[in-house]
Amino acid sequence: MEPKTINVDSEKLEDLSQKLSLHFWGKRCDIPVLWNGRLTKSMGRFMFSSRGRTRTALRIELSKHAVRFIPPEIFIAVLLHELCHYHLFIQGQPFEDGHPVFEEELRRVGAISTNVVQLPQKGFELYCSKCHERLGSRKRMNTKHYLSACCKAQILKKEAWLGECKYPGEILKHSKVRLSSNHVKKV
Ligand SMILES: [Zn+2]
Ligand SMILES: [Zn+2]
Repeated sequence: MEPKTINVDSEKLEDLSQKLSLHFWGKRCDIPVLWNGRLTKSMGRFMFSSRGRTRTALRIELSKHAVRFIPPEIFIAVLLHELCHYHLFIQGQPFEDGHPVFEEELRRVGAISTNVVQLPQKGFELYCSKCHERLGSRKRMNTKHYLSACCKAQILKKEAWLGECKYPGEILKHSKVRLSSNHVKKV
């Protein structure tokens, strides 16, 4: 599975978040929505701080890595999931994953039920240098220490993405949002 090259322009992400926010909640999103290059176990997250009874919304982060593997409608559904956390949070409502209020909000806007993801990992495809038979794949391997079973020849390795992108969640309602170049339309 090859990753897509996608436009990860920060301004576009910010713009999209505002449009979704205004469309579904009639309010702007007043925290930054940013890419995080190190998020690999989840597709996104909502961050807040708490000190005593004071809780402050900080930011939404989206995985720069996951976005290259997931379909665009899943990406929108993930962004909506994080925006559900944010908007319920600022309304002082229950905003935790699994809470009925939160789950209902996910359904209302057509967000994805979870932001958990399993992503392909960088590894190697192995080949026999003599007959070019494919010998499988490995996450890492020192090919100097082995010979191919077929020809007892040197093993060649080629960088590859191993595994599939998997997310257990589903979009809770088929989102009616279609994105065009400069606005979000409800159809
Ligand atoms: Zn969540
Ligand atoms: Zn061979």
